[in-house]
Amino acid sequence: MQYDVIVIGSGPGGYVAAIRSAQLGLKTAMIEKYATFGGTCLNVGCIPSKALLDSSEHFHNAQHTFKEHGIDIKDLKVNIKQMISRKNEVIAQNTAGITFLMKKNKVDTYEGVGSFKDKNTIKIKLTKGGEQEITGKNVIIATGSKPTALPFLPVDKKRIITSTEALNLTEVPKTLTVIGGGVIGLELGSVYARLGTKVTVVEFADSIIATMDGSLGKELQRVLKKTLGMEFLLGHKVTGAKNNGKSTTVEAVDPKGNTVKVEGDYCIVAVGRTAYTEGLGLENIGIKLEERGKKIPVNAHLETQVKGVYAIGDVITGAMLAHKAEEEGVFVTETIAGQKPHINYNLIPGVVYTWPEVASVGFTEEQLKADGKKYKTGSFPFKASGRAKASMDTDGFVKVLADAATDEILGVHMIGPRVADMIAEAVVAMEFRASAEDIARICHAHPTYTEAFKEAALAATDNRAIHI
Ligand code: FAD
Ligand code: NAD
Repeated sequence: MQYDVIVIGSGPGGYVAAIRSAQLGLKTAMIEKYATFGGTCLNVGCIPSKALLDSSEHFHNAQHTFKEHGIDIKDLKVNIKQMISRKNEVIAQNTAGITFLMKKNKVDTYEGVGSFKDKNTIKIKLTKGGEQEITGKNVIIATGSKPTALPFLPVDKKRIITSTEALNLTEVPKTLTVIGGGVIGLELGSVYARLGTKVTVVEFADSIIATMDGSLGKELQRVLKKTLGMEFLLGHKVTGAKNNGKSTTVEAVDPKGNTVKVEGDYCIVAVGRTAYTEGLGLENIGIKLEERGKKIPVNAHLETQVKGVYAIGDVITGAMLAHKAEEEGVFVTETIAGQKPHINYNLIPGVVYTWPEVASVGFTEEQLKADGKKYKTGSFPFKASGRAKASMDTDGFVKVLADAATDEILGVHMIGPRVADMIAEAVVAMEFRASAEDIARICHAHPTYTEAFKEAALAATDNRAIHI
């Protein structure tokens, strides 16, 4: 078979690239080694984790806040089997949706492992047995990532587990150790803490979600400790973990250089993800991985060293986020079709689906300081929001950073109820290069959480927030 575009991998990068390619009238094929489409995101990432976050949040609220709302429930208990089975049903609906979209857009799909024979020929080791070769004028590598393995900490997938196994536990652990206070550690740690597990997070950096604006990590840590009883060992470098049969022992070095041991029924290793390029046969076409991070190097058009071979998503540099992969899928196919697309990498929002949610876009205060940029800041706490008081979600704040001279918004950092959805307004505003005063003068519906953004913008404009 001869194609205009062959996509290897069916994650949010790959399947979006395939759909856009077909929309542009290009004859397109997509290869996926697993039986279901959707990659990490749909099968073992974004979607299943959010399904469990939603279920566990319902349980937590039923246990802790319903009474105050005037709702009494007797005999409340977790049915973990049903929770996992609902999560699996959500995955099935989403992955089936991608199969439908492939058919609808007339994308040919192949189930098997794809590898380069030469730059235009992909050999597919078919899952059903045998091999097949297809050729393409252009090939897009969208093979994603897998959990980072620490050489001194072998994952046994039984007690010492990654996010993938943590999405499928058959019991609610009494205790759980999470290695890594990044996004995965905090989201999955929250799931089990809400179900009653005592969770200890062991983090090497001095704060959790260390790459986001410093104020967010501080507030999130405070709230997760207060509402879920989560413990945080910061500045602790994990050096090993042991499966004791029915429990685990994690060893770490504390900031003073002492070795500490943390016991837990299970231990989740969430120390990042690594680009996945195994079995792709990159050596056959002369692609060398980056020294640091082992990612596939690309130029500004996301083309590799080999003409006509592109790479997108987790397998290349940048944030490992589904929406970043999707944008790149569209970018590359439009480039192939001769268009001149653009991605503003500074305006890719980052979200953590804990409760309160955390969301960010643009520069952090730490980055502005390091760059010597003159900026002003305005904050508004959710405890002063009428909507937040009504729903009893008063933790958190919105912070707006604006250029001291021009008032242009440079960064927006939010922690609070539904900020995962609220951040979109900040992204739109920044894409249109809005000033803080632009937001401050735009009418926001009352009572909504979004008023906190307007108030923070008012505070940044010239310290004239109304409700505080
Ligand atoms: P992937 O989704 O990893 O897909 C790559 C696909 O390629 C896989 O299906 C793989 O089987 C296939 N493949 C690999 N090699 C071959 C080969 N040789 N032949 C054929 N097929 C191959 N991001 C967010 O933005 N929001 C979230 O809420 C979020 N939550 C997450 C929660 C968890 C627990 C995890 C682990 C990740 C989460 N992420 C989230 C990150 C997100 O899942 C990734 O950034 C995203 O999936 C990357 O997309 P991708 O298309 O680059 O690769
Ligand atoms: P991460 O990079 O967010 O966090 C890993 C943490 O582990 C870091 O804070 C790091 O300091 C710590 N760490 C590393 N080695 C350690 C050691 N030896 N001892 C103690 N701590 C150590 O990675 P993650 O949480 O595994 O997530 C992986 C990727 O998946 C991220 O890039 C993220 O973008 C993506 N993801 C996104 C979402 C979302 O968008 N909501 C959700 C889950 C995952």
